[in-house]
Amino acid sequence: MVKAVVGANWGDEGKGKITDMLAQNADIVVRFQGGANAGHTIKNKYGKFALHSLPSGVFYDHTTSVIGNGVALNVPIFFNEIKSITEKGVPMPKIMISERAQIVMPYHILFDQYEEERLGGKAFGSTKSGIAPFYSDKFAKIGFQVNELFDDEGLKDKLKSVVATKNVLLEHLYHKPLLDVDELYATLMEYKEMVKPYVGDVSAFLDKALKEGKTVLLEGQLGTLKDTDHGIYPMVTSSNTIAAYGAVGAGVPPYEIKEIITVCKAYSSAVGGGAFVSEIFDAEAEELRNRGGDGGEYGATTGRPRRVGWFDCVASKYGCRLQGTTDVAFTVLDVLGYLDEIPVCVAYDIDGEQTTDFPVTYKLEKAKPVLKTLPGWKCDITGIREYDQLPENCRKYIEFVEQQIGYPITMVSNGPSREDIIYRKSALK
Ligand code: GDP
Repeated sequence: MVKAVVGANWGDEGKGKITDMLAQNADIVVRFQGGANAGHTIKNKYGKFALHSLPSGVFYDHTTSVIGNGVALNVPIFFNEIKSITEKGVPMPKIMISERAQIVMPYHILFDQYEEERLGGKAFGSTKSGIAPFYSDKFAKIGFQVNELFDDEGLKDKLKSVVATKNVLLEHLYHKPLLDVDELYATLMEYKEMVKPYVGDVSAFLDKALKEGKTVLLEGQLGTLKDTDHGIYPMVTSSNTIAAYGAVGAGVPPYEIKEIITVCKAYSSAVGGGAFVSEIFDAEAEELRNRGGDGGEYGATTGRPRRVGWFDCVASKYGCRLQGTTDVAFTVLDVLGYLDEIPVCVAYDIDGEQTTDFPVTYKLEKAKPVLKTLPGWKCDITGIREYDQLPENCRKYIEFVEQQIGYPITMVSNGPSREDIIYRKSALK
């Protein structure tokens, strides 16, 4: 069966930790979208790791880690990550890369930088990992699939043609140095050597695995609100972050996805620009940012300080709905233990009207948070393993959020490690 682990919010919900935890009982972990532009942080017996490209199953020797066709594969980053984890004592993981995955080309990264420079103050706040130019080229049908590295003749001809169009833009729009076909070809030949041992037919592999009764975990990157279609367009990522895309980006039938575990953080955080209704500022934000996550809310890939805010029931209800949530994993709850009172955003006020339905972007820009304040529990809940053992106000916070979002919270995460998890029976399931 297939399970998906995806985010309800803006990313950084703690999907890495939940995937790592669920991977204990999985055979295969698949990345199905996105690239190395966001990271998962995982803490385990080997140390603390920020993975940008490798699936979170790489720490187990019983799992196979798969890069699906939907991923934007940055070959050198991928291989440096394998090197960095094996250097820290992690056994060499079993890895498979889809022959249909496409490659982030060196010029995608350049174009990402040049375009942000050109936009100046109107920039998207891109991580400049080449993701938007990569997906643009993929859908414009001038991208390079991994298998094309093995088609010497075709590759050079296609490179010539693509480079010709790229050079027009470089010369006339960006006024930057031109690309050289031979140099790019040589780089691709290096990539070919790096990927060679791992390339395969992922959808056939997964089909066989499913017929044998294996468990496949799809690992999402970012969250619903960054989905190209359903997120806060245009301040979104350039791929679909919802579980439905897992079927496309891994090559499995949609009906095989039986469980959708949506990770939802107990407060909000976001990187980059865009409307963020429940955002908080100044000293209040500084305190939550520094206490947040595991060692503060700073981007795993970029080190950028994340914007933070109170839990947003409107955004999270929508985030869970679009994912097709069967279970909510409610994370980083331990961080809120310092607060006397905890505000929660329960509705948006848009032009004097209240709504709990997440709106389209131009309306979202006008939304003001309607806050309800819940009492805090004022203690450290790390180490607790039974739901009943949580302080009453903490349980009330969880149950309030569950009522508001309308999806069952069956897991509560109260620390960064695999073991920091409380399973819970929900009346909604
Ligand atoms: P992802 O991209 O969704 O995997 O999230 P990140 O890895 O960027 O952010 C989650 C951060 O919170 C990481 O530093 C995790 O180690 C940490 N984390 C995950 N779950 C918990 C939790 O329940 N409590 C605390 N304190 N930290 C957590």
